[in-house]
Amino acid sequence: MTDETRDVVVVGGGIAGLAAAHALAGRDVVVFESDSRAGGRIWSERRQPYWMSVGAHIVGDASSPSPMARLAEELGLELAPLHGDMAALWSNGRLTRAGKPELLPFRLGLPLAGRASLAVAGLNVRRIYKRALAASPEAFHGAREFDGDYPTVEGDTELDERPFGDFLGPTHSSVAALFRTAFNRVAAEPREISGHFGGMLIGSAWMTKRRALTVMGGVGEITNRLAAKLGPRLVTGAAVRAVIPGEDGAEVHVEQGGVLRRVRARFVVCAAPAHVTREIVRDLPRDKAAALAAIKYGPFLVMAATTREAGPMPYDDIYAVAVSGRTLSMLYNTANPLRGQGPRTPGGSFQMFVGGDRAAELLSASDARIRERLLSDVHAVYPETRGLIEETWIRRLPQGFPFWEPGRLRRQPALARPHKTVFFAGDWTEYPSSNTAARSAQIAARAILRRLDAKS
Ligand SMILES: Cc1cc2nc3c(=O)[nH]c(=O)nc-3n(C[C@H](O)[C@H](O)[C@H](O)COP(=O)(O)OP(=O)(O)OC[C@H]3O[C@@H](n4cnc5c(N)ncnc54)[C@H](O)[C@@H]3O)c2cc1C
Repeated sequence: MTDETRDVVVVGGGIAGLAAAHALAGRDVVVFESDSRAGGRIWSERRQPYWMSVGAHIVGDASSPSPMARLAEELGLELAPLHGDMAALWSNGRLTRAGKPELLPFRLGLPLAGRASLAVAGLNVRRIYKRALAASPEAFHGAREFDGDYPTVEGDTELDERPFGDFLGPTHSSVAALFRTAFNRVAAEPREISGHFGGMLIGSAWMTKRRALTVMGGVGEITNRLAAKLGPRLVTGAAVRAVIPGEDGAEVHVEQGGVLRRVRARFVVCAAPAHVTREIVRDLPRDKAAALAAIKYGPFLVMAATTREAGPMPYDDIYAVAVSGRTLSMLYNTANPLRGQGPRTPGGSFQMFVGGDRAAELLSASDARIRERLLSDVHAVYPETRGLIEETWIRRLPQGFPFWEPGRLRRQPALARPHKTVFFAGDWTEYPSSNTAARSAQIAARAILRRLDAKS
């Protein structure tokens, strides 16, 4: 073991770890990332004038500046609004463009019984969404900012104690397939997801109109630039094996190239996934350890593809299609932000993903089989793409997304709370997204800065 001392050690070089280190840039900070690259679940690569993405692709919406959008701007990146449909739906061989949710029962490719069932389900979702909003933990950001305890969540917490399906009630099989797609989108199955989270997810998708934003060149430009700014303060291939919190600093054991180093830190930001955090941070209070252990990550299988069409395609003004009843859960037209400005350039790019049980089944399949299966779904949705697919890039994420299982709301206060000199960041700290990851990191960094300043 070798010894060294730092102001702050950050564990994990995903967006949470990178954003924390960026906010602490003026201090003696080091980031240890176990993988050979930083960025974690965000990963995109340029293919001029397009890009391929096998991770996060939306950074917020144009109506209110999100932490990711602010970071992008600060880093000199261009934000790009997505055009046209954000919520087209493909079911039973028919593509239905987004429209008023109350008209969906009449517009979707559904049997008569399915239409009636969807109309009833729609009313239920409205009701569930209202209940979920009343207990939204987003109201507590202020409390966390000022180092206060994360308050116990008040309001309708009963909704969060049982799976979404218990509140939705029975649905026709064609409608159940639509809901399954919505939950596969967050790597979950309907039986696994809490009523609260399911309500927020479907309610916000159906009931709110948003103009989503992405980053020109891909969201990976944010993590790439943050990593480049950190330079040697970002150490890749360095797996943290233990964090031992103390009242006056913490000890971090990190393994790099077969050598174990012991680093003393005045503060630690643990920005590793929940299951890793649970494993490496020693002596956690019982409620926090139990809350971390309860977090379940659903699997994702992601594929990006470039296409070689010569000119305009019918899907140029569609960004997102939810695909029902097939392997594919979501099909994104990642070239969409480039449409609508200047002449239509040849070629394009897609991101597609499969979540939940369907992803779990395919994770061990060969690249060739995955490619064949997903492309057959893409061609079913957009027959025009036959013969046009060029490069594909497959990413397997057995631990893809920490959706909310029943009971999460009750565990929130324990999850977000710092422990001695160790602070926590990551998408698992609230509703999972890159914005939650970045926001939780910035909150942790500001709390540490206040303490460092108070000590000096
Ligand atoms: C396919 C897909 C699409 C998505 N789309 C969107 C979207 O459009 N918009 C959005 O906001 N969000 C989206 N998300 C979610 C978003 O990508 C994540 O919420 C976010 O990237 C999580 O960041 P993080 O830093 O918390 O975790 P991670 O990115 O998982 O980073 C954790 C890091 O810790 C490292 N690590 C693990 N163990 C150790 C250890 N022992 N020592 C050191 N390092 C360790 C890991 O290698 C990893 O780099 C998507 C996710 C996926 C998978």
